[in-house]
This record gives sequence, structure tokens and C-alpha cells, in this order.
Amino acid sequence: MSKDYTPLWKELGLDLVKHDGLLSVLSDAYKNIYLSQKNRPEGMKYFDFVISEVHGLRIEELYEAKKEKRKVIGTFCVYVPEELVLAVDGVYVGLCAGAEVGFEEAEKYVPRNTCALIKAFMGFKLSGLCPYVELTDLIVGETTCDGKKKAYEIFDEITKKMYVMEIPNMKNEEDRQLWLNEVKKFKNKLEEISGKQITLSFLKKSTEIVNQKRKALQRLSSLRAYDPPPISGLDSLLVNQIAFYDDPVRFTMKVNELCDEIEERVKKAEGVVPKGTPRILISGSPFAIPNWKLHAIVENSGAIVVGEESCVGYRNFRNLTDENFNSIDEGIEKIASRYMSIDCACFTPNTERIDNVTKLYKDLKADGVIHYALQFCTPYMIEAFKIDRKIDFPFLRIETDYSMEDFGQLKTRVEAFIETLK
Ligand code: SF4
Ligand code: SF4
Repeated sequence: MSKDYTPLWKELGLDLVKHDGLLSVLSDAYKNIYLSQKNRPEGMKYFDFVISEVHGLRIEELYEAKKEKRKVIGTFCVYVPEELVLAVDGVYVGLCAGAEVGFEEAEKYVPRNTCALIKAFMGFKLSGLCPYVELTDLIVGETTCDGKKKAYEIFDEITKKMYVMEIPNMKNEEDRQLWLNEVKKFKNKLEEISGKQITLSFLKKSTEIVNQKRKALQRLSSLRAYDPPPISGLDSLLVNQIAFYDDPVRFTMKVNELCDEIEERVKKAEGVVPKGTPRILISGSPFAIPNWKLHAIVENSGAIVVGEESCVGYRNFRNLTDENFNSIDEGIEKIASRYMSIDCACFTPNTERIDNVTKLYKDLKADGVIHYALQFCTPYMIEAFKIDRKIDFPFLRIETDYSMEDFGQLKTRVEAFIETLK
């Protein structure tokens, strides 16, 4: 880290001893998993820097933003419209956590058999380890899965900052209307807390910024279709994770710089692994930072991950918002409609996801799909069976959590699956 942030962490009420321990574990894991990779693009140095400063410089930036009366909005789901947060000059940050931290504390509030993502965001807060939660002015939840819905009630008792958007379970006309109303209510809420009115020009600008970010991520994704693969799955996953934390304009610029470099690699047929290495598409539950387990297993078992059909991945940037609107109401409608096209397993029916997995598998020239569901994530666990029945390409279904206990067993299954692809 570039300087000592202890006074800032202290001011935010973090548990300094535990926090030091967390940073040291993270830094070791990062060295082992990321910095040990060979032939990484130079452009990944920026993302390494962001990780090294994820509880440092970025936290300081948010702290400074608050001093300028900008609002920090925390979210847990890709349904929360980023465009609206930016349109009130707010800062949008993802709060999902991907490490087994504070589970003992979390299990005082939620059952043991709750998915790891929920236990982790509660555990980080309850253990005094999340500077992002402390800096938020509003934490936006959504009625997606049952676990999140009920956990938000408890999280509100703890933080007193929750705002929950109702997300319908279906996509009929009346559901779309309900969602449009929710997006309008969210706009009003943001205007109220920020004291700023959303104007047409702010909305157009913010829509453009978020679309530019999505386009850069799409560009990176399409470069992963080349063989030999010019970037590892681990590095691409990291970029997808940082998309939820970094300043969007700076992030977009850095992703595009990385893509420029990767395009040069493609021209020279330069890859991180040899041509013909088995190519895996991972599909399913989100990979909150620092959940790198499955990618590390795949890439240490003689294969490469070429895509994530996940909210930390393609589901986050597949669709752009239509920028062609001439009034605020029209813009809100376009935003609502773009978010309703997301194919989360919380919806029923959710047939478009099967089509999307198939398309991505073909576009990225994958050889097989590993369906990854977090344990107790019923929507994705059940959809995995459905996808398996409907598709005709090699498919491995796994359920796991954030612990390392099943590492050996998972590695054996992944290695056996990769063998069948050779
Ligand atoms: S998996 Fe569903 S609930 Fe979870 S972040 Fe994605 S869209 Fe939201
Ligand atoms: S991973 Fe599944 S169970 Fe966990 S919060 Fe997301 S949708 Fe809910």
C-alpha cells in the first residue's frame, strides 16, 4: 500500500487488528494466485495496483467524495441501475464479498445453511472489516432470492441504511410496470438523499459512461475467444470484479488500454497458454472478490477459463442501455427495460439463460461448461439441472462455497472433466 491508512480505518470504526490480519492473508493469496502467473499483459499492472489499494486509495477517494457532498451507494446486485446513481453524481460500489470471513458472527443472525455470499457480506460488517459498508450513505438491496430478502431485513437493523427495490419474479407486462415504478422510486430516493435533481443531460451523460464501461468489458470478453488465449481467465475475472469498485471512467480507459495490448498479442498469435488448451466457460452464481478458487483450480489443471456467464462477468455487461431518449421519463423507461433483460435464475421462467449460455459457449469457442453454484443458492443449483438436460455440450455441475476444505475434491473432479475434453 502506498501509505499508512490506519487513521482512516480507525475513523471508520474498523477492527484494526483483524483488519491487518485480513490484508495480510489477502496479499499472500494474491501473490500465490495472481503474481505467480506467467506472461501476463503489462496492462494488468493497473489492476494489481487497484487490488493492492482496495482498502487504501479507493477508500480515501470515497472519503474525499463524501467530503464534496457526493453520496456513496452500496449495492449487491446487477439489477440496481448504476446510471441513476451517477446521474446524481453519486459513487456506485458493489458490497458483495467473496471470502469466508466473519461467518461465526453472521451465523448469530442467519442459519448456517445460508449461501456464502450472504454470510460473507454480513460477516465482513459484523467483524468490523468492510470500509465500503461504513462509507455508504445508502445500501440498496433487491428482492431477488429469499436468502437476500430476509438477510436485508437484518442488515437494516445493523446498518440502518437499507433501501430495498422490489424485483418481480416474472417478466409479464404487469411485472415490467412494477419494475418501471421501482426504478422511478429509486430515482426519487437518490434525488432526495443527494439533494440533486436528475436532468436530461445528466442522465444522458451517466448512461453513456456506464455503456462505455460495458463496451470495454465486451471488448475484453470477445478477445478471449482467440486461440491461443491472450489473457488468463484469472486476470479477466479480476477485471470483471474490479468493475464494481473502481471509478467508471478511469476503469474504462484502463480496460481499453489492456485490450489494445491484447489485440497486439492476438496479431502475433501470442497466448498465455499453448493453442489447443482446453477452454472452459464457467456459468452460474456470482464470483465476488476475492473468490478466485474455481478459476485457480481450472487454470492449474491444464485448461483455461474463457468466459464467465455470471453477474461478475457477462451478465453484467451483455446488454447496453439504449441512449436514444429525449426526456427523463423516456430515459427511465429505457433503463428499466435494459435491466429487465438480465437473465438471473431468480426469475421464472428463465429460458433466455439457456440460450445465452449456448451462445456464449459458441462465441467463445469453449470446449466445455462448468456450472458453478454456491451451496444453498437454490435458484442456480436447480437451473444447473435444467441447463444440463437442454444442452448437448460437455457439462460439469459443481456446488461449492468459499472454504478451501473441498479444494482437493474439486480439483480431482475438474481434472477428470478436463481430461474428457482433450
Ligand atoms: S445472481 Fe441474481 S441476485 Fe445475484 S447479483 Fe446476479 S442478478 Fe442479482
Ligand atoms: S448466490 Fe444465490 S443464494 Fe446467494 S445471494 Fe446470490 S442468488 Fe442468493
